[in-house]
Amino acid sequence: MERKISMLKRILEESRYTVVLCGPGMTEEAGIIGMKNQDRAYEIERKYKDSPEEMFSSAYFSARPEKFFEFYKNEILTQIPLLTQSGKVLAAMERAKKLQCIITTNIYEQSQRSGCSRVINLRGSIYKNKCLRCEKEYPMEYVRDAKGIPVCEQCGGIIRPQVSLFGETVDSRLVCETTMEIERAEVLLVLGATLQSEVYGTYIRYFNGKYLAVIHQNPHHSDEKADLVIIDHPKNVLSQLGYE
Ligand SMILES: [Zn+2]
Repeated sequence: MERKISMLKRILEESRYTVVLCGPGMTEEAGIIGMKNQDRAYEIERKYKDSPEEMFSSAYFSARPEKFFEFYKNEILTQIPLLTQSGKVLAAMERAKKLQCIITTNIYEQSQRSGCSRVINLRGSIYKNKCLRCEKEYPMEYVRDAKGIPVCEQCGGIIRPQVSLFGETVDSRLVCETTMEIERAEVLLVLGATLQSEVYGTYIRYFNGKYLAVIHQNPHHSDEKADLVIIDHPKNVLSQLGYE
């Protein structure tokens, strides 16, 4: 373990372009239990009579906006996570010019709130909301505090959070940016996800740099494709890298 950490330190030190991919393991550190977690999914389904995958989809948003927003406000907007130690380490790495880009599936702008500036929010952000009719932008609080469906004060259109819902394809601009960053990386560090993760699996194939490192809690057969694997919670490893 110690040997692996010093190897990781050296890899990062020597790298001229490091890209970090943050997966669900990083969001969990902030106390968020994803909707794909079976217990949470079951609990939500019991409460709303529909599954989270159904409710958090674009079809549901269009067909039953009222219930979509009830679910969204109660289950998504009420669990805005606190900042984590890992987020602070990543921000310190960025300041030290040892991290060039963070790509994340976290919809709570966790990385920016921790102080990182070069971030791609692959699944969007709860802090960005737009009227579907006139495109006027609204802050998260406007959506959170609206009674029922949040509507535009300018034109009466429905306001939609700019997060990707189940069944939707990711914004092509973000796909393009993500691919370019991964192609450019000399070191790719995958935190809290496997190399075959649903979101990142296809992107990782574009990596053509020197070192592919993975830090996650449970061993996975795809680990063998990495140059360095550390089986542990990312926070335990990040805290030992010497960035503060
Ligand atoms: Zn409008």
